[in-house]
Amino acid sequence: IEKIREAELENKTLFSFEFFPPKTEDGVDNLFDKMDRMVQHNPSFCDITWGAGGTTADLTLDIANKMQNMICVETMMHLTCTNMPVEKIDHALDAIKGNGIQNVLALRGDPPHGQDKFVQTEGGFACALDLVKHIRAKYGDYFGITVAGYPEAHPEVIESNGVATLESYHNDLAYLKRKVDAGADVIVTQLFYDTDVFLKFVNDCRQMGITCPIVPGIMPINNYKGFLRMTGFCKTRVPPEIMAALDSIKDDEEAVRKYGIYLGTEMCKKILAHGIKTLHLYTLNMDKSALAILQNLGLIDEAKISRTLPWRRPTNIFRL
Ligand code: FAD
Repeated sequence: IEKIREAELENKTLFSFEFFPPKTEDGVDNLFDKMDRMVQHNPSFCDITWGAGGTTADLTLDIANKMQNMICVETMMHLTCTNMPVEKIDHALDAIKGNGIQNVLALRGDPPHGQDKFVQTEGGFACALDLVKHIRAKYGDYFGITVAGYPEAHPEVIESNGVATLESYHNDLAYLKRKVDAGADVIVTQLFYDTDVFLKFVNDCRQMGITCPIVPGIMPINNYKGFLRMTGFCKTRVPPEIMAALDSIKDDEEAVRKYGIYLGTEMCKKILAHGIKTLHLYTLNMDKSALAILQNLGLIDEAKISRTLPWRRPTNIFRL
C-alpha cells in the first residue's frame, strides 16, 4: 500500500496479480510455478482470494503464507465475513500477521451458494465496513487495508435494465467513503469493460472526497463462455462493440484470447493516460494474457525472464 502511494507521488506505474486457491494439489503446484515466473516481473504485490463463503479458508491462509515467505512476493490476502464469527476472523488475521503479511482486502463476501441474500453470521460482521473497523480497532496500523469498489454500483442494486439508479449509485459511493474513512487505504475495483464507466467512478469518488488510490481491476478475456459467466454474475456492462467483436469470433478460442489481450491493452492505455498509476490484473490463475498486456504496455520485458525456477518446492505443499 505504501508502494502504491509512492508510485502516485513519483509518477511510476505499478501492477499487481490476483490468484485464487485451486481445487487440487496439482492445481496448487501449477499455481506456484506460474507465480514463480510472474513475480520475476516485480509486481507491487500479489493477492489470493478467500473462497466464496469461507470455503477455502485454510488453503487461502496456507497459500498466502507461502506467497509471502517462499515465493517472496508482497502478499495481500482477501478476507470475507461470510460464515466467519469474530474468533475465526481474528484467527486468520493473527495467522497472517505471524507470517509477516501486512495487507488485507477486507470484504463482506457473497451469500453462500444457494442463498440469494447475505446473512450476518452469529457473532460475525454485517458488512465490510464492520470488518475494516474491527481490523483498525484490534490491529492498529499493522495492516494495510484494501476494500472493494464498484464502478457500476454493487450488483445487488443493479436493476433489471442493467444499471443502478442514480440514488443507489450515490448510496454505494457514500458507503464506500465510510469504508475509507474507517481506515481503508486503497480501493480495488470490480472488473469492468467500459473504461469510461471506471473513469467516471474515479471522478465521482474524488468529488465525494475519497482521496485514496483507486486501482482498476482488469480481467483479460480468456474465453468466451467464461467471459459471459463472469459478466453475467457481476452484472457488468459490456459495450455493444465489444459484444459484437466477440460474437464474430466466439468459436475460435485463440482469436478470443488475442482479442482479450488487445482489449486489455487498450483499456489499460486509456486508464494510464488519465493519470491512474496502478493496474490490478485478475489473472484467473493464467499467466499468458496478463503478461502479454503488460508487455504491450512496455511495463515488463518477457525476454529478460529466466525460464528456470529459482527454487524447488517439496512436492506436497499441503504437508509443509
Ligand atoms: P460491502 O462493502 O459490505 O458492501 C456490499 C453492498 O452492500 C454495497 O452495495 C454497499 O453499498 C451495501 N452496504 C453494505 N453495508 C451497508 C451499510 N451499512 N450501509 C449502506 N450500504 C451498505 N468475494 C469472495 O467471496 N472472496 C473474495 O476473495 C473476493 N474478492 C473480491 C475482490 C474484489 C476487488 C471485489 C470487487 C470483490 C470481491 N469479492 C470476493 C466479491 C465480494 O465479496 C462481493 O461483491 C460481496 O457481495 C460484497 O462484498 P463487499 O466487501 O463489497 O461488501
